[in-house]
Amino acid sequence: MANQSGRHFLQIPGPTPVPERILSAMSRQMLDHRGPTFGEFGLKLLADVKTIFKTHNPVIIYPSSGTGAWEAGLVNTLSPGDQVLIVETGQFAVLWRNMAERIGLKPEVIPTDWHSGADANKVEARLKKDKSHDIKAVCVVHNETSTGARSWIDEIRKAMDAAHHPALLMVDAVSSLGAMDLRHDEWGIDVTVAGSQKGLMLPPGLSFTAVSQKALAASKKAKLQRSYWNWDDMIAINAAGTFPYTPAIGLLFGLAEAIAMLHEEGLENVFARHERLAEATRRAVRGWGLDTWCRDPRSHSPAVTAVAMPESHNADAYRKLVLENFNMSLGTGLNKLAGKAFRIGHLGYTNELTILGALAGVEMGLELAGVPHEKGGVTAAMAYLSETVRPATAKAA
Ligand SMILES: *Cc1c(COP(=O)(O)O)cnc(C)c1O
Repeated sequence: MANQSGRHFLQIPGPTPVPERILSAMSRQMLDHRGPTFGEFGLKLLADVKTIFKTHNPVIIYPSSGTGAWEAGLVNTLSPGDQVLIVETGQFAVLWRNMAERIGLKPEVIPTDWHSGADANKVEARLKKDKSHDIKAVCVVHNETSTGARSWIDEIRKAMDAAHHPALLMVDAVSSLGAMDLRHDEWGIDVTVAGSQKGLMLPPGLSFTAVSQKALAASKKAKLQRSYWNWDDMIAINAAGTFPYTPAIGLLFGLAEAIAMLHEEGLENVFARHERLAEATRRAVRGWGLDTWCRDPRSHSPAVTAVAMPESHNADAYRKLVLENFNMSLGTGLNKLAGKAFRIGHLGYTNELTILGALAGVEMGLELAGVPHEKGGVTAAMAYLSETVRPATAKAA
């Protein structure tokens, strides 16, 4: 390792860098998770977390990775043999599909080219054919972290309504929550699945399911086996601000701080910041004469950009070189993207100069690796960021 001084650039799309404020909020002594102090804290936290999901319904918090919340969403609402429709936007949709199959559901996939988000028209057409309403849930990944493509959940909702189909709408918001607008209630989402280590700027270890009244009603009849993930126990005990088993107390202290930080900046400002840093990143990619993996302009992710590596070069060898020379971690290509793409995470605790530092590392790495490219990507990103700078005094709305 040539250069280990200064800070490591963790530019993967999760886990993301944890702000000092959150680190210090978490370094507190433990307390009795069944005592009155914790109860008071828990009640406020469970109310406040709803503002991030934009919901008035319960948000259930688990000590688990995001994958656990996928399972919680499925086992609480569905029965063995139920059909679920999953839009295969990329690797995370594939993993969700595989899980559905393992736990005894019948997943059906709507394929995509892995270069764009979910096509609402295809969802609508498939649901219209399902006259007997055998499909019990539609699953869509809001931000497909593997390809850098977003899906428009409001359009999926409209498609389901246009087909007059009663399936539940389940949304994987693991890498979108806190980075992109998500409106659980307004968009008629039945289960939103999320995790702590991406847009929420926390370490890994917490996951979430936001539910709807319709999802809760479905859970009364759902017959898949569940115990740890059971919503009933959680919701009953959450009423006192406490949990049925030992919660991840340290991470919950961090979550309270993360929510405060998001509101201090203002959610709309947080989303605008992500859009802007993503646009700067794409301008850099174009400046290098390279292509983003996502080819549909409407689907570009505000949280992560996957960059297609010219065929002559291996993306993982390139990533290794960047790590060894510039102390920066870039995201690896998953599944179909293995060796063919690298990913630049620009979500969470990030600003203009951190993204520019990351882009400089990418550009120097391209040179060092002998990847055919043009100069000037970083310059293009700088030009965009200075054109669109907002006065430092602009206050959060
Ligand atoms: C990271 C991620 C997951 C998996 O979360 P884990 O915390 O690793 O279990 C699922 N879906 C998406 C879209 C992700 O980005």
